[in-house]
Amino acid sequence: MRLLRRAGQGVNKGLLITDVRLVDERSDFRGDLYIKGGLIRAVGVNLRIPGANVLSGEGRTLLPAFVDLHAHFRDPGYPEKEGIGSGSAAAVHGGYTTVAVMANTAPVCDRPEVALYMRVEAEKAGLIELYAMGAITRGLAGEELSDMEALAPHVWAFSDDGFGVQRTDMILRAFQRAATLGRPIAEHSEYLGIDDPALAEELMVNRDTFLSRRIGAALHVEHVSSAGSVKLIAAAKRAGTRVTCEVTPHHLCLEPGYTVNPPLVTEKTRDRLIVALASGEIDAVATDHAPHTAVDKNRGAPGISGIETAFSLLYTQLVRSGRLDLPTLVRAMATRPAQILGLNKGSLGIGRDGDVVLVEEGEEFTVTTDWLLSRGKNTPLLGERLRGRVWATVHRGEVVYLDGKLRGKVVG
Ligand SMILES: [Zn+2]
Repeated sequence: MRLLRRAGQGVNKGLLITDVRLVDERSDFRGDLYIKGGLIRAVGVNLRIPGANVLSGEGRTLLPAFVDLHAHFRDPGYPEKEGIGSGSAAAVHGGYTTVAVMANTAPVCDRPEVALYMRVEAEKAGLIELYAMGAITRGLAGEELSDMEALAPHVWAFSDDGFGVQRTDMILRAFQRAATLGRPIAEHSEYLGIDDPALAEELMVNRDTFLSRRIGAALHVEHVSSAGSVKLIAAAKRAGTRVTCEVTPHHLCLEPGYTVNPPLVTEKTRDRLIVALASGEIDAVATDHAPHTAVDKNRGAPGISGIETAFSLLYTQLVRSGRLDLPTLVRAMATRPAQILGLNKGSLGIGRDGDVVLVEEGEEFTVTTDWLLSRGKNTPLLGERLRGRVWATVHRGEVVYLDGKLRGKVVG
């Protein structure tokens, strides 16, 4: 690696990243950062660490690595769409070192073996930390609860993502068990059979915030896409409900005209979602990375392969336009999702995990199928020029992606 100088004699002397603009939720200054033993050990100006491996940032911007609360890696079941290896590669290409993956695999992640398989495959790929989501209902069929007790030690939350849990008796019992197990319910809020997508979402958000407060179980609302949902969630938070929520980059940035679920929204709604993200009413950005083959996409499969473009899209559209400042984007992409997952990540504080990303704020690049490491090339951004290129991704002090190279392997 061109800029990575190994000065030690095979001894791990840590990684010193020099000459960067360091930005997290609370700070913004020029300096250096030192990681050793997987943790951030020093942050300052002109750090000198004898024997450390040095990565010169050459004026680039260093942020806490991103944490994705919502992605689909399609393995087991649909390796032609994505694998855990290709999904991990796409993640670090997008600046993510931590990804929560949804249960709509085949078999469904409704038993511990599936969650364990995903974890082991991610460890083999060796790029990211993967957190599985467990299904709320068996086979995501909505008819019978999964064995939530057996799943709990292996998952961070329960979700039937792809579907909302339609039956109120079912979600009530799921909340009761989730409360006992200390795990959140993450809901894809959508009542089926209602033509107005905003109403279909708001009805379920209304039901779930009520039940969450009544039962005392944490609720995480996935991919919020309506101003009404934002209002309901904000009111629930004020009333002391343990509720958090996420929004996708595409619901913040893209005009309708591409098939996703929930559907893309009007400019007026996008404006409201951006304001809610800036104020903290919306906690986090989650990608809902949904890779598909060209054949499946042409048949109408909903979703965007979005984990690689998330930061650059948001940086280009929201930060450069002055609608969101960079520390707020960092809060939404790293700090809050790390808190929601209960991880020691998401800031550049001493003692935090050494998960960081270096970005080139001014660098413009074009999104192409070759540039995407995901198997899913389904994105409306093909051919678009974006700024805020991810230059390097560091996971626990190890450079897992650097300037077109994936841990030693040349890509794209
Ligand atoms: Zn969903």
